[in-house]
Amino acid sequence: MILFSDLAPTYFEIKDEIDFAINRALSSGWYIGGAEVSGFEKKWATYCDASRCVGIANGLDALTIALKALDIGSGDAVIAPSNTYIASWLAISNVGATVQPVEPNALTHNIDAAMIEKAITPATRAIMPVHLYGQPVDLDPILEVARRHNLLVIEDAAQAHGACYKGQRIGAHSDVVCWSFYPTKNLGAFGDAGAVTTNNIELADRIRCLANYGSNEKYINVEQGVNSRLDPLQAAVLSVKLNHLDTWTDRRRTLAQRYSEQLEDCRLTLPIVPEWADPVWHLYVVRSHERDRLQSCLQDLGIGTLIHYPIPPHMQKAYGNMGIAPDALPVANSLAQEVLSLPMGPHLTTEQQTGVIRAILDQ
Ligand SMILES: *Cc1c(COP(=O)(O)O)cnc(C)c1O
Repeated sequence: MILFSDLAPTYFEIKDEIDFAINRALSSGWYIGGAEVSGFEKKWATYCDASRCVGIANGLDALTIALKALDIGSGDAVIAPSNTYIASWLAISNVGATVQPVEPNALTHNIDAAMIEKAITPATRAIMPVHLYGQPVDLDPILEVARRHNLLVIEDAAQAHGACYKGQRIGAHSDVVCWSFYPTKNLGAFGDAGAVTTNNIELADRIRCLANYGSNEKYINVEQGVNSRLDPLQAAVLSVKLNHLDTWTDRRRTLAQRYSEQLEDCRLTLPIVPEWADPVWHLYVVRSHERDRLQSCLQDLGIGTLIHYPIPPHMQKAYGNMGIAPDALPVANSLAQEVLSLPMGPHLTTEQQTGVIRAILDQ
Protein backbone atom coordinates (compact mmCIF):
# COMPACT_ATOMS: atom_id res chain seq x y z
CA MET A 1 0.00 0.00 0.00
CA ILE A 2 1.49 3.36 -1.04
CA LEU A 3 -0.44 6.31 0.33
CA PHE A 4 -0.71 9.50 -1.72
CA SER A 5 0.85 11.26 1.25
CA ASP A 6 1.44 10.23 4.83
CA LEU A 7 1.65 12.89 7.52
CA ALA A 8 2.41 10.90 10.68
CA PRO A 9 6.07 10.14 9.73
CA THR A 10 6.72 13.90 9.71
CA TYR A 11 5.77 14.00 13.37
CA PHE A 12 7.74 10.88 14.31
CA GLU A 13 10.89 12.13 12.56
CA ILE A 14 11.06 15.14 14.89
CA LYS A 15 8.82 13.97 17.75
CA ASP A 16 11.15 15.08 20.57
CA GLU A 17 11.46 18.62 19.23
CA ILE A 18 7.71 18.91 18.60
CA ASP A 19 6.76 17.51 22.00
CA PHE A 20 9.20 19.88 23.68
CA ALA A 21 7.77 22.90 21.82
CA ILE A 22 4.16 21.94 22.55
CA ASN A 23 4.97 21.43 26.21
CA ARG A 24 6.66 24.82 26.31
CA ALA A 25 3.57 26.44 24.74
CA LEU A 26 1.22 24.60 27.10
CA SER A 27 3.26 25.54 30.17
CA SER A 28 3.55 29.20 29.18
CA GLY A 29 0.01 30.12 30.21
CA TRP A 30 -0.44 32.09 26.93
CA TYR A 31 -3.09 30.46 24.77
CA ILE A 32 -3.86 33.35 22.42
CA GLY A 33 -1.04 35.35 20.85
CA GLY A 34 2.16 35.69 22.86
CA ALA A 35 5.75 34.65 22.30
CA GLU A 36 5.07 31.48 20.30
CA VAL A 37 3.08 33.43 17.70
CA SER A 38 5.43 36.41 17.48
CA GLY A 39 8.44 34.05 17.41
CA PHE A 40 7.06 32.14 14.44
CA GLU A 41 5.99 35.35 12.67
CA LYS A 42 9.57 36.67 12.88
CA LYS A 43 11.02 33.38 11.69
CA TRP A 44 8.62 33.08 8.75
CA ALA A 45 9.17 36.71 7.68
CA THR A 46 12.93 36.17 7.75
CA TYR A 47 12.64 32.91 5.81
CA CYS A 48 10.50 34.62 3.14
CA ASP A 49 12.71 37.70 3.02
CA ALA A 50 9.69 39.86 3.95
CA SER A 51 9.65 42.71 6.48
CA ARG A 52 6.47 41.52 8.16
CA CYS A 53 4.50 38.36 8.82
CA VAL A 54 1.08 38.28 10.49
CA GLY A 55 -0.24 34.92 11.69
CA ILE A 56 -3.85 34.16 10.68
CA ALA A 57 -6.12 31.24 11.56
CA ASN A 58 -6.05 29.65 8.07
CA GLY A 59 -5.20 30.31 4.43
CA LEU A 60 -8.69 31.29 3.28
CA ASP A 61 -8.90 33.94 6.00
CA ALA A 62 -5.40 35.17 5.11
CA LEU A 63 -6.58 35.81 1.54
CA THR A 64 -9.91 37.30 2.61
CA ILE A 65 -8.42 39.64 5.21
CA ALA A 66 -5.63 40.71 2.85
CA LEU A 67 -8.23 41.74 0.24
CA LYS A 68 -10.27 43.55 2.87
CA ALA A 69 -7.20 45.39 4.18
CA LEU A 70 -6.56 46.59 0.60
CA ASP A 71 -10.13 48.00 0.53
CA ILE A 72 -11.28 45.57 -2.16
CA GLY A 73 -15.01 44.96 -1.92
CA SER A 74 -18.34 45.25 -3.60
CA GLY A 75 -18.23 46.67 -7.14
CA ASP A 76 -14.61 45.58 -7.55
CA ALA A 77 -13.32 42.72 -9.68
CA VAL A 78 -10.24 40.57 -9.04
CA ILE A 79 -8.49 38.46 -11.66
CA ALA A 80 -7.76 34.89 -10.52
CA PRO A 81 -6.86 31.67 -12.32
CA SER A 82 -9.66 29.45 -13.61
CA ASN A 83 -7.85 26.32 -12.38
CA THR A 84 -7.15 27.02 -8.73
CA TYR A 85 -8.37 25.54 -5.47
CA ILE A 86 -11.72 27.16 -4.74
CA ALA A 87 -10.34 29.07 -1.71
CA SER A 88 -8.73 31.65 -4.03
CA TRP A 89 -12.16 32.43 -5.50
CA LEU A 90 -13.99 32.26 -2.18
CA ALA A 91 -11.75 34.93 -0.67
CA ILE A 92 -12.69 37.31 -3.49
CA SER A 93 -16.39 36.49 -3.10
CA ASN A 94 -16.15 36.82 0.70
CA VAL A 95 -15.27 40.52 0.44
CA GLY A 96 -18.14 41.11 -2.02
CA ALA A 97 -15.94 41.44 -5.11
CA THR A 98 -16.36 39.57 -8.41
CA VAL A 99 -13.96 36.91 -9.69
CA GLN A 100 -12.62 37.46 -13.20
CA PRO A 101 -11.31 34.03 -14.17
CA VAL A 102 -8.31 33.87 -16.47
CA GLU A 103 -7.16 30.64 -18.08
CA PRO A 104 -3.74 29.25 -17.18
CA ASN A 105 -0.92 28.64 -19.58
CA ALA A 106 -1.56 25.04 -20.68
CA LEU A 107 2.10 24.07 -20.20
CA THR A 108 2.88 25.57 -16.79
CA HIS A 109 -0.69 25.36 -15.41
CA ASN A 110 -0.11 28.87 -14.03
CA ILE A 111 -1.70 32.18 -14.99
CA ASP A 112 0.30 34.44 -17.33
CA ALA A 113 0.52 38.18 -17.88
CA ALA A 114 -0.59 38.26 -21.54
CA MET A 115 -3.89 36.59 -20.73
CA ILE A 116 -4.36 38.79 -17.68
CA GLU A 117 -3.98 42.01 -19.61
CA LYS A 118 -6.78 41.03 -22.02
CA ALA A 119 -9.16 40.41 -19.11
CA ILE A 120 -8.73 43.80 -17.39
CA THR A 121 -11.89 45.94 -17.22
CA PRO A 122 -12.60 49.28 -15.49
CA ALA A 123 -13.85 47.28 -12.44
CA THR A 124 -10.59 45.33 -12.08
CA ARG A 125 -8.76 46.31 -8.89
CA ALA A 126 -6.37 43.44 -8.34
CA ILE A 127 -4.70 40.29 -9.65
CA MET A 128 -4.41 37.12 -7.57
CA PRO A 129 -1.73 34.82 -9.01
CA VAL A 130 -1.62 31.34 -7.46
CA HIS A 131 1.67 29.44 -7.29
CA LEU A 132 -0.11 26.19 -8.05
CA TYR A 133 1.48 22.83 -7.16
CA GLY A 134 4.52 24.66 -5.71
CA GLN A 135 5.52 26.05 -9.14
CA PRO A 136 6.20 29.78 -8.93
CA VAL A 137 4.21 32.00 -11.28
CA ASP A 138 6.19 34.24 -13.69
CA LEU A 139 5.72 37.30 -11.49
CA ASP A 140 7.71 40.08 -13.20
CA PRO A 141 5.42 40.48 -16.24
CA ILE A 142 2.36 40.32 -13.94
CA LEU A 143 3.78 43.00 -11.64
CA GLU A 144 4.53 45.09 -14.72
CA VAL A 145 0.94 44.77 -16.05
CA ALA A 146 -0.32 45.63 -12.56
CA ARG A 147 1.85 48.75 -12.42
CA ARG A 148 0.68 49.92 -15.83
CA HIS A 149 -3.00 49.45 -14.95
CA ASN A 150 -2.66 50.58 -11.33
CA LEU A 151 -3.76 47.21 -9.93
CA LEU A 152 -2.90 45.52 -6.65
CA VAL A 153 -1.32 42.04 -6.58
CA ILE A 154 -2.18 39.49 -3.90
CA GLU A 155 -0.31 36.17 -4.19
CA ASP A 156 -1.89 32.91 -3.11
CA ALA A 157 1.23 31.06 -1.96
CA ALA A 158 -0.59 28.28 -0.08
CA GLN A 159 1.34 25.65 -2.08
CA ALA A 160 4.69 27.42 -2.47
CA HIS A 161 6.56 27.46 0.86
CA GLY A 162 10.22 28.04 0.00
CA ALA A 163 9.74 28.22 -3.78
CA CYS A 164 12.04 30.72 -5.50
CA TYR A 165 11.30 33.04 -8.38
CA LYS A 166 14.51 34.22 -10.08
CA GLY A 167 16.49 33.18 -7.00
CA GLN A 168 14.32 34.97 -4.46
CA ARG A 169 11.90 33.17 -2.18
CA ILE A 170 8.20 33.80 -2.67
CA GLY A 171 7.04 36.08 0.14
CA ALA A 172 7.36 39.75 -0.73
CA HIS A 173 7.37 40.27 -4.51
CA SER A 174 3.88 41.80 -4.60
CA ASP A 175 1.64 43.82 -2.28
CA VAL A 176 0.86 40.88 -0.01
CA VAL A 177 1.48 37.14 -0.01
CA CYS A 178 -0.99 34.74 1.63
CA TRP A 179 -0.04 31.41 3.19
CA SER A 180 -1.84 28.33 4.42
CA PHE A 181 -0.25 25.91 6.87
CA TYR A 182 -3.00 23.31 6.46
CA PRO A 183 -1.49 19.93 7.52
CA THR A 184 -0.81 18.67 3.96
CA LYS A 185 1.01 21.81 2.80
CA ASN A 186 4.80 21.74 2.52
CA LEU A 187 4.96 23.58 5.85
CA GLY A 188 1.94 22.17 7.65
CA ALA A 189 0.61 22.62 11.17
CA PHE A 190 -1.27 19.99 13.18
CA GLY A 191 -4.54 21.76 12.46
CA ASP A 192 -5.57 24.92 10.64
CA ALA A 193 -3.11 27.82 10.40
CA GLY A 194 -2.17 30.59 7.99
CA ALA A 195 -0.29 33.87 7.58
CA VAL A 196 0.39 36.83 5.35
CA THR A 197 3.81 38.27 4.52
CA THR A 198 4.50 41.71 3.07
CA ASN A 199 7.03 44.52 2.93
CA ASN A 200 4.23 47.04 3.51
CA ILE A 201 4.30 47.71 7.25
CA GLU A 202 1.07 49.73 7.37
CA LEU A 203 -0.75 46.99 5.50
CA ALA A 204 0.60 44.35 7.91
CA ASP A 205 -0.65 46.44 10.84
CA ARG A 206 -4.10 46.75 9.30
CA ILE A 207 -4.28 43.01 8.60
CA ARG A 208 -3.30 42.29 12.22
CA CYS A 209 -5.98 44.67 13.43
CA LEU A 210 -8.71 43.21 11.15
CA ALA A 211 -7.84 39.65 12.21
CA ASN A 212 -8.17 40.65 15.88
CA TYR A 213 -11.72 42.08 16.01
CA GLY A 214 -10.52 45.31 14.39
CA SER A 215 -8.61 46.05 17.55
CA ASN A 216 -4.99 46.89 18.40
CA GLU A 217 -5.71 47.73 21.99
CA LYS A 218 -7.97 45.68 24.25
CA TYR A 219 -11.60 46.90 24.09
CA ILE A 220 -10.77 49.63 21.53
CA ASN A 221 -12.24 48.65 18.16
CA VAL A 222 -11.30 50.86 15.24
CA GLU A 223 -12.73 48.62 12.50
CA GLN A 224 -15.29 45.85 12.09
CA GLY A 225 -12.87 42.97 12.12
CA VAL A 226 -13.02 39.21 12.57
CA ASN A 227 -11.45 36.69 14.93
CA SER A 228 -8.82 34.90 12.85
CA ARG A 229 -5.57 34.58 14.79
CA LEU A 230 -2.76 32.04 14.54
CA ASP A 231 -3.05 29.55 17.41
CA PRO A 232 0.07 29.56 19.65
CA LEU A 233 0.21 25.74 19.76
CA GLN A 234 0.27 25.67 15.95
CA ALA A 235 2.88 28.46 15.94
CA ALA A 236 5.08 26.36 18.26
CA VAL A 237 4.76 23.39 15.90
CA LEU A 238 5.44 25.54 12.82
CA SER A 239 8.58 27.07 14.37
CA VAL A 240 10.03 23.59 14.86
CA LYS A 241 8.95 22.32 11.45
CA LEU A 242 10.37 25.37 9.68
CA ASN A 243 13.86 24.24 10.80
CA HIS A 244 13.30 21.10 8.70
CA LEU A 245 11.50 22.61 5.71
CA ASP A 246 14.55 22.86 3.45
CA THR A 247 15.53 19.24 4.15
CA TRP A 248 12.00 18.11 3.34
CA THR A 249 11.91 20.25 0.20
CA ASP A 250 15.19 18.69 -0.95
CA ARG A 251 13.62 15.24 -0.62
CA ARG A 252 10.64 16.40 -2.70
CA ARG A 253 13.06 17.76 -5.32
CA THR A 254 14.93 14.47 -5.50
CA LEU A 255 11.66 12.56 -5.93
CA ALA A 256 10.43 14.99 -8.60
CA GLN A 257 13.67 14.70 -10.54
CA ARG A 258 13.47 10.91 -10.43
CA TYR A 259 9.84 10.91 -11.63
CA SER A 260 10.79 13.26 -14.47
CA GLU A 261 13.78 11.15 -15.53
CA GLN A 262 12.13 7.76 -15.33
CA LEU A 263 8.74 8.71 -16.78
CA GLU A 264 10.23 10.70 -19.64
CA ASP A 265 9.43 8.12 -22.30
CA CYS A 266 5.90 7.22 -21.30
CA ARG A 267 2.82 8.87 -22.73
CA LEU A 268 2.18 11.14 -19.76
CA THR A 269 2.68 14.89 -20.00
CA LEU A 270 5.18 15.76 -17.26
CA PRO A 271 5.57 19.07 -15.40
CA ILE A 272 7.86 21.60 -17.01
CA VAL A 273 10.12 23.89 -15.01
CA PRO A 274 11.03 27.30 -16.51
CA GLU A 275 14.68 28.25 -16.00
CA TRP A 276 13.81 31.05 -13.55
CA ALA A 277 11.80 28.76 -11.28
CA ASP A 278 12.81 26.73 -8.23
CA PRO A 279 9.62 24.82 -7.47
CA VAL A 280 9.01 23.04 -4.16
CA TRP A 281 6.87 20.19 -5.57
CA HIS A 282 3.89 20.51 -3.26
CA LEU A 283 2.41 18.18 -5.89
CA TYR A 284 3.89 16.28 -8.80
CA VAL A 285 1.13 16.56 -11.40
CA VAL A 286 1.10 14.64 -14.67
CA ARG A 287 -1.48 14.78 -17.45
CA SER A 288 -3.06 11.90 -19.34
CA HIS A 289 -5.96 11.57 -21.76
CA GLU A 290 -6.68 8.29 -19.99
CA ARG A 291 -6.40 9.73 -16.51
CA ASP A 292 -9.35 7.89 -14.95
CA ARG A 293 -8.18 4.53 -16.24
CA LEU A 294 -4.62 5.17 -15.01
CA GLN A 295 -5.87 6.25 -11.61
CA SER A 296 -8.01 3.15 -11.15
CA CYS A 297 -5.22 0.80 -12.33
CA LEU A 298 -2.87 2.38 -9.78
CA GLN A 299 -5.59 2.16 -7.14
CA ASP A 300 -5.96 -1.58 -7.84
CA LEU A 301 -2.22 -1.94 -7.20
CA GLY A 302 -2.62 -0.15 -3.86
CA ILE A 303 -1.12 3.15 -5.08
CA GLY A 304 -2.98 6.25 -3.98
CA THR A 305 -3.20 9.25 -6.30
CA LEU A 306 -5.35 12.39 -6.14
CA ILE A 307 -6.81 14.91 -8.59
CA HIS A 308 -6.08 18.59 -8.04
CA TYR A 309 -8.78 19.54 -8.85
CA PRO A 310 -11.59 17.42 -10.27
CA ILE A 311 -14.10 20.28 -10.65
CA PRO A 312 -12.90 23.81 -11.47
CA PRO A 313 -14.51 26.59 -9.39
CA HIS A 314 -16.70 27.86 -12.26
CA MET A 315 -18.27 24.38 -12.59
CA GLN A 316 -19.10 24.16 -8.89
CA LYS A 317 -22.67 24.65 -7.74
CA ALA A 318 -21.31 27.38 -5.44
CA TYR A 319 -20.57 29.50 -8.54
CA GLY A 320 -23.58 28.37 -10.56
CA ASN A 321 -24.98 31.90 -10.40
CA MET A 322 -21.98 33.50 -12.14
CA GLY A 323 -23.38 32.86 -15.61
CA ILE A 324 -20.16 31.35 -16.96
CA ALA A 325 -20.91 28.97 -19.86
CA PRO A 326 -19.53 25.47 -19.19
CA ASP A 327 -17.24 25.69 -22.24
CA ALA A 328 -16.08 29.26 -21.58
CA LEU A 329 -12.96 28.10 -19.74
CA PRO A 330 -11.76 25.12 -21.79
CA VAL A 331 -8.22 24.94 -20.39
CA ALA A 332 -9.48 24.64 -16.81
CA ASN A 333 -12.03 22.07 -17.93
CA SER A 334 -9.51 19.90 -19.76
CA LEU A 335 -7.02 20.10 -16.90
CA ALA A 336 -9.73 18.86 -14.57
CA GLN A 337 -10.20 15.86 -16.88
CA GLU A 338 -6.49 15.10 -17.35
CA VAL A 339 -4.44 15.94 -14.25
CA LEU A 340 -3.25 13.33 -11.79
CA SER A 341 -1.07 13.95 -8.73
CA LEU A 342 1.40 11.13 -8.08
CA PRO A 343 2.45 10.16 -4.54
CA MET A 344 4.74 12.90 -3.20
CA GLY A 345 6.06 13.97 0.16
CA PRO A 346 9.20 14.03 2.28
CA HIS A 347 8.52 10.57 3.64
CA LEU A 348 7.91 8.73 0.38
CA THR A 349 10.77 6.22 0.20
CA THR A 350 12.82 5.47 -2.91
CA GLU A 351 11.45 1.90 -2.89
CA GLN A 352 7.88 3.17 -2.76
CA GLN A 353 8.57 5.58 -5.60
CA THR A 354 10.14 2.78 -7.63
CA GLY A 355 6.89 0.85 -7.16
CA VAL A 356 4.86 3.79 -8.46
CA ILE A 357 7.14 4.31 -11.46
CA ARG A 358 7.08 0.57 -12.38
CA ALA A 359 3.31 0.48 -12.12
CA ILE A 360 2.99 3.46 -14.47
CA LEU A 361 5.52 2.09 -16.98
CA ASP A 362 3.68 -1.26 -16.98
CA GLN A 363 0.44 0.36 -18.12
C1 LIG B 1 -4.85 25.16 0.84
C2 LIG B 1 -5.11 26.28 -0.07
C3 LIG B 1 -5.80 27.43 0.34
C4 LIG B 1 -6.58 27.54 1.62
O1 LIG B 1 -5.92 27.26 2.78
P1 LIG B 1 -6.71 26.83 4.10
O2 LIG B 1 -5.66 26.98 5.15
O3 LIG B 1 -7.15 25.41 3.91
O4 LIG B 1 -7.84 27.76 4.30
C5 LIG B 1 -5.89 28.50 -0.54
N1 LIG B 1 -5.38 28.44 -1.77
C6 LIG B 1 -4.73 27.34 -2.23
C7 LIG B 1 -4.16 27.36 -3.60
C8 LIG B 1 -4.58 26.23 -1.40
O5 LIG B 1 -3.94 25.15 -1.86
